[in-house]
Amino acid sequence: MTVNDSAVGEEDWRRATDLIRAAGTTALACHVSPDGDALGSMLGLGLALARAGKKVVASFGDRVFTVPRLLRFLPGQDLLVEPSAYPAEPDLMITFDASTMERLGLLAPHAGKARELVVIDHHVSNTRFGTVHLVDPSAASTTMVVERLIDRLGLRADRDVATCLYAGLVTDTGSFRHSITTPAAHAMAGRLLATGIHPEEIARELWDRSPFAYLRVLGTALGRATLEPDAAGGLGLVWTFVSRADRAAEGLPYDEVEGVIDVVRRVDEAEVAVVLKEDDEGGWNVSVRSKGAVDVARACAALGGGGHPRAAGFSSATSVADTMAALRPLLTDPPTSHWTSP
Ligand code: 5GP
Ligand code: MN
Repeated sequence: MTVNDSAVGEEDWRRATDLIRAAGTTALACHVSPDGDALGSMLGLGLALARAGKKVVASFGDRVFTVPRLLRFLPGQDLLVEPSAYPAEPDLMITFDASTMERLGLLAPHAGKARELVVIDHHVSNTRFGTVHLVDPSAASTTMVVERLIDRLGLRADRDVATCLYAGLVTDTGSFRHSITTPAAHAMAGRLLATGIHPEEIARELWDRSPFAYLRVLGTALGRATLEPDAAGGLGLVWTFVSRADRAAEGLPYDEVEGVIDVVRRVDEAEVAVVLKEDDEGGWNVSVRSKGAVDVARACAALGGGGHPRAAGFSSATSVADTMAALRPLLTDPPTSHWTSP
């Protein structure tokens, strides 16, 4: 091992590997509305275990159970079961990229009833809701913790496993652009690339393709973007929204609009960027990003959400105007923690 395991205690590593080796069926769950790190970490470990002859089921607790279109290229989808087919009281359950039990959605009660619950995560805000915790806030992605676990189990990361782990790594480092891009992140990328994965295909699936309708909806969202130079303690706020009516007009599914925030957050005049996205049921999911001077995880936590200091989110059942009115005054806290020094 060349990577630093110090954030996770030896006892936790030992208990996790003992439990996994002894388990009959291992039940895996990642957070709702999974992103590349959530699904990649879960399917990466799931595939490594399945290839070693272990029984595995994997799921996530969304009311409408569909894998986001841009993650359908990930190997291991045959391990997925609907939440209704998930073990009610698993002997061993493992969670991925979820900072709280609530983030498991419909599968939270299953976690509550699991005999042993191994929590694998990298959020500094993780509430340690399991019986064993592999939580490393200095890890760039949850897949980075999973890579160490696979190694400690004596299992091999083949090309399919590596594709899953790499998807999480590039998602959470923003293609090695965010401040969490450590030497360890690049070293892991090197190990994964050595298995023969195709980084250009993974990047294209994740970010560089969309239906034409996306351009139309993006145009609408950008056309109404608002810059508030005095907001965020005078550091500037830029924000916009994508309604379900915008999407319906072009026939664009909800899971296609995740990338809007990555355009909006580039604005020089704003420290904080916000995109509100309305789902098909009329609820709003809010993506919030900062450049480092404002702790958006704390702001989002105050509104029932969470995330990382520079990338966080929450859900809202009220109007765009009311949601922004609630968020705006919270965008003043400087970070108390840092991505790389928790
Ligand atoms: P995104 O804006 O890409 O959906 O989310 C950015 C970050 O915030 C991710 O780490 C994600 O897990 C976290 N996040 C987004 N929405 C929520 C939420 O409702 N609750 C919590 N706890 N975290 C969230
Ligand atoms: Mn993550």
